[in-house]
Amino acid sequence: MKKCLLCGSSVEPFLSFGPMPRANGFLRLEEFEREYFFPLEAAFCPGCAMVQITEQPEPERMFNASYPFFTGSSRRMALHFEEFAKEAARHLPPSSNPLVVEIGSNDGTMLACFAGAGMRHLGVEPSLNAAQAARDRGLKTVSEFFTLDLARRIVQDEGRADTIVAANVMCHIRDLHSALDGVRLLLKPRGLFWFEDPYVGDVLEKTAYDQIYDEHAYLFSVSSISRLLKRHGLEVVDVQPMPTHGGSNRFTAAHRGALPVSRTVAAFLEREKRLELHHRETYDRFRKRCEESRDRLTALLKDLRRAGKRVVGYGATSKSTTVINYCGITTDLMEFICDTTPLKQGTFSPGAHIPVRSHEQFLSPYPDYALLFAWNHRDEIMEKEGGFREKGGRWILYVPTVGLSN
Ligand SMILES: [Zn+2]
Repeated sequence: MKKCLLCGSSVEPFLSFGPMPRANGFLRLEEFEREYFFPLEAAFCPGCAMVQITEQPEPERMFNASYPFFTGSSRRMALHFEEFAKEAARHLPPSSNPLVVEIGSNDGTMLACFAGAGMRHLGVEPSLNAAQAARDRGLKTVSEFFTLDLARRIVQDEGRADTIVAANVMCHIRDLHSALDGVRLLLKPRGLFWFEDPYVGDVLEKTAYDQIYDEHAYLFSVSSISRLLKRHGLEVVDVQPMPTHGGSNRFTAAHRGALPVSRTVAAFLEREKRLELHHRETYDRFRKRCEESRDRLTALLKDLRRAGKRVVGYGATSKSTTVINYCGITTDLMEFICDTTPLKQGTFSPGAHIPVRSHEQFLSPYPDYALLFAWNHRDEIMEKEGGFREKGGRWILYVPTVGLSN
């Protein structure tokens, strides 16, 4: 039996995807032969209610010198993080010379907002290329994984932090015990710890199984994260639902008992009870919906191929890797995937090896159908690509259900 990494109980696997490559493992022709695969399987822990994957590649395989995702490359995400930084800055506890630490600071998009306001700051970013991009813009950044040991050294060198922020990072950290002990040590007695991650409630509601991939070691619920923080002397004091990544929660946490707890937290816990997020059967029903979704999508793509239609993918996202490999989408069914990230162009998608091409290739000539992998930016993309629709192009959607756009 596989054990929960957080509480040691036997976990209950509910969805196996088979051998899966790394979600961000876009690769070149000469790398095909040594492509890395691992068994991707999602499980529920009856002991602590945490949804997790039972196996994860070593962190160094995922967050290395060639991590292809830069926060600043999406204008919309950059705006989102500016807003996040402003909110965290507004709630800074009174302090003469506050220190803000960001865990997983990537290229410094969010950290720059604190630095721009003249605040002391420190970014922690293990991906060397992203960390270097942050340093190049004058942001103080250490290239390491955030652990209790690193937190100790930060306290020695910089003192304790007034605010710690982490966006789409905490759910990546397999050893959350060390990271949360680090947060507890680093955070001042009345400091705030903000973190934002995809919400398991949204994943279930939207059948968004594509949120399950190597980097997401966990999918948090308010119940599971509250329980975990308590074990580390911390406490969730507020939760705000966010539309990012197709449904996330922004958590505000503090030392246990240091600050009043918002009523929203109890409302969330109540709602999660009603949704039966702590019942195994809920996840079995989710698996059935995933299988139906997969079968419908595959059938649709095969029908389009038989009808001689050109189909491309839109957005070589991390999420697309799960969809492509779980549904068995091959180069027979999809001509290429277009993406605006220069680092990904000219590579092939992990596992299925569908070519990744530039956005220009999407435009000339337009395909008949485009499968929208970046569905969390649906409105923005559909507006930007109005010409595709005008020329008779149709979007293929799969979240929350498989179908064509109107
Ligand atoms: Zn557990």
